Amino acid sequence: MSYQKYADIIIDISHENLDKTYQYTIPKEFFASAIIGALVVVPFGRGSRKINGYIVGLSNEPKIDIDRIKPIDHVVEGAPVIESHLIYLAHWIKETFGGTMNDALKTVMPIKKAVKIKEKRRIVSIKPYEELSLLYEEQKRKNNAARIRILEALLKNSYLDYDDVTKKLKISKPTITWLETNDVIKIESKQIYRNPIEKQDISYTPVTLSDEQEHIVENILRDYNEGIRNTYLIHGVTGSGKTEVYMEVISAVVASGKQVIVLIPEIALTYQTVNRFYSRFGDRISILNSRMSDGERYDQGLRAKNGEIDIMIGPRSALFTPFQNLGLIIIDEEHEGSYKSEATPKYHAIEVAKTRAKLTGAFVILGSATPSMESYYSATKGEYKLFHLSKRAKEASQPKIWVVDLREELRQKNRSIFSRKLKELIEDRLNKQEQIMLFINRRGYAGFVSCRSCGYVIKCSRCDVSMTSHVQGGYSRGKLLCHYCGSQEPMPNTCPVCGSKYIAAFGTGTQKIEEMVKREFPKARVLRMDADTTKNKGDHQKILSAFAHHKADILVGTQMIVKGHDFPLVTLVGIVAADLSLYAGDFRAGERTFQLLSQAAGRAGRDRIPGEVVIQTYNPEHYSIVTAAEGDYQSFYEQEMLYRSLMQYPPASHIMVILITAREEDLADKAIDHAGLVLKDYINTKQLSSKIIGPAPAGLAKVKDTYRRVIYIKEANYNYLVELKNYFEGYFNYSIQFAGCSLQVDFNPMSTY
Ligand code: ADP
Ligand code: ZN
Ligand code: ZN
Repeated sequence: MSYQKYADIIIDISHENLDKTYQYTIPKEFFASAIIGALVVVPFGRGSRKINGYIVGLSNEPKIDIDRIKPIDHVVEGAPVIESHLIYLAHWIKETFGGTMNDALKTVMPIKKAVKIKEKRRIVSIKPYEELSLLYEEQKRKNNAARIRILEALLKNSYLDYDDVTKKLKISKPTITWLETNDVIKIESKQIYRNPIEKQDISYTPVTLSDEQEHIVENILRDYNEGIRNTYLIHGVTGSGKTEVYMEVISAVVASGKQVIVLIPEIALTYQTVNRFYSRFGDRISILNSRMSDGERYDQGLRAKNGEIDIMIGPRSALFTPFQNLGLIIIDEEHEGSYKSEATPKYHAIEVAKTRAKLTGAFVILGSATPSMESYYSATKGEYKLFHLSKRAKEASQPKIWVVDLREELRQKNRSIFSRKLKELIEDRLNKQEQIMLFINRRGYAGFVSCRSCGYVIKCSRCDVSMTSHVQGGYSRGKLLCHYCGSQEPMPNTCPVCGSKYIAAFGTGTQKIEEMVKREFPKARVLRMDADTTKNKGDHQKILSAFAHHKADILVGTQMIVKGHDFPLVTLVGIVAADLSLYAGDFRAGERTFQLLSQAAGRAGRDRIPGEVVIQTYNPEHYSIVTAAEGDYQSFYEQEMLYRSLMQYPPASHIMVILITAREEDLADKAIDHAGLVLKDYINTKQLSSKIIGPAPAGLAKVKDTYRRVIYIKEANYNYLVELKNYFEGYFNYSIQFAGCSLQVDFNPMSTY
């Protein structure tokens, strides 16, 4: 084998200015270990400071004068090596979503540092029994207590657990070394990986797939066996049997000698889910989650790499599991916002999964009860193969859904936050000792302004999203702001449509609802779950478990209560203020409302008792609410797509966000204005039809003494946006105008900034 002499290295500093590779020579002793993806220590800069880096390329050609190329100091032993296709993937992520190569490498390498592997060591006697007893007699004569103890033990057992010897027998290191050097014992060690899956005795009960399920499995596997690699979207309501379909396909892919990654939102990665996979695939599965230690996570990567497991189940980060022969990536609940990274690089798991699949000859299955607009759009364009599961697998009646018009309640002089219908049903359930979930789809800081009398909501005329009354930043109260374009309006005193004085910023917190529930239903036992009551690890589980054990009658909470949990006694779900997510001030508000309402409805009556759902709203005619109440995804999609096309929002077009932050307000303002000019210039010069929106203060205009300013750019061609990003990143890093500012780029954002 011939080794290469030069390595291209990415220096481990997250700073855009250093976002390029540097060439080093590889000293002979590292020829074998200096492979692509290896962690190395190199001298860097004038002072030749020792610094970490990753090898991203190898060659035999010096790129600069040989005398100026420094040698690698050393290759870090035992550090995780990044697979070469993951390095390519990192490069693609950096290009497609922005940020530095260093950020991207850290993303594809889930464990940032090598963690000491747990070892099981044992001491094995290598002397024949007679010799061992002679030695024992000799030590007895010499009165050497420690040696006597261990020899005695070795006479009884030819091998001993190392830890037992040191801890229980209290034998010190020198004694062990003495035995070793005198060829009495040898030490054997075996790596044991921490395994997060407990061995269990659960058996798999095979199900007979329905015709619909069978049809999907057959189609997917036919493609697979013919070497066709597609992306599939399975649209099927919760409980329609998607997971059974996944498992059937996984089984075939694993049987063909390949491995599978299953992405599930962390919140849905419950004990029951893991058990289901375990019962079918046994300990050939592993999981990743945020509660695991670095060591545990590192071990799972090693187990995958060494072929000890076939299936990795986990949230977004499981996407980078270093399988050697990946065959399939499944993304369940593919519409979930958590599949988009909030940290730079702000990549979307679906896009990365498709690219990783392409690099490795694998394929992708997406599944959801409420597919994202993006995925469904791709399916209608024929980029994904679309399948439907139309019925629930087990007989369960669909809940009855009531949409209550809150304007009518006001007309009937009911000013309480509970409509008469909801109140009546809550009382009914309390009497029957059944359970109730009250849900408020709150979206952070956004406070839109609406008329409680006619339902009118103030919107930005240019962006067609609700304006929000401002909370922080340099804006006085009483002003309304559009989070995209920054336009402002004074807060009106009366409704511009009906003249009523019941126009105000909308906002009801979970705490307030909890108080109202207690006042209105003093005998009910109430639990609350929101960001405040789940600050500590385990809080989440504690509340859900208490509710599951019927320690409370009513659970009040934010979106976190609607996901993934089965409470058979819940027969009533109340959505107290459906409008809160509908007017969140960003273009995904309607989609999110549809998803939340559909999921919330799915919570009611999941067992034998049929459920009821009450949706309270000031806008009962809004298509997101109407279609969710009817369970009509198709109709929702079509109406939402009209809006997205008209306004050039994704997936009809693409949006890139340029966020500039600075410690001084003046600096942030000047920088964003300058950025606007630079971007406009580029767009004009290249004769692009991209539209610039803003500059504007971000919705969160000031966070921790940092001022945030944004520009949104709409452009139908993603590649043009990437070019624009590359150009602007380069300009930003070298222009004095941006000194002291930071830049973040985001494509097709999940929410407003
Ligand atoms: P989803 O993933 O779409 O929510 P699941 O695969 O979890 O649906 O199925 C819901 C329930 O129905 C599970 O308990 C599952 O075991 C059961 N189930 C699914 N398909 C069948 C089938 N063909 N026959 C019997 N039970 C099924
Ligand atoms: Zn009005
Ligand atoms: Zn606007």
